[in-house]
Amino acid sequence: MTDTIFGKIINGEIPAERLYEDEHCIAINDINPQAPVHALVIPKTCIARLVDAQPDDQALLGHLLLAAGKVADKLGVADAFRLIINNGAGAGQTVFHLHLHIMAGKPLAEGDM
Ligand code: 5GP
Repeated sequence: MTDTIFGKIINGEIPAERLYEDEHCIAINDINPQAPVHALVIPKTCIARLVDAQPDDQALLGHLLLAAGKVADKLGVADAFRLIINNGAGAGQTVFHLHLHIMAGKPLAEGDM
């Protein structure tokens, strides 16, 4: 586990309400939501960026997508949500521990958000 803010949340050093948790990941609300529903799905294993994932991470990456669907369902937005992964500082990544943003709750037309 690295010492990013998400590593600290996962190991309990920093408290955060867990919307969902299983063996491989947690989901929490984003502290600075950019949409009415804005949750983060975070693997318990730290991969800094999506491009740092290795072939051995294939099952974990699939697991994160399935978990995102479950979280969206739990949050009542399964019919309309967007998943975003920011890869690299130039794309807006600020926490270098891979995570999926689940965003929903406002119209999600092309070009929104
Ligand atoms: P990134 O910009 O790396 O794709 O996304 C990082 C996200 O983590 C941001 O949307 C930011 O608001 C969120 N975030 C940063 N620190 C915390 C924190 O301590 N708690 C929670 N719940 N979210 C955080």
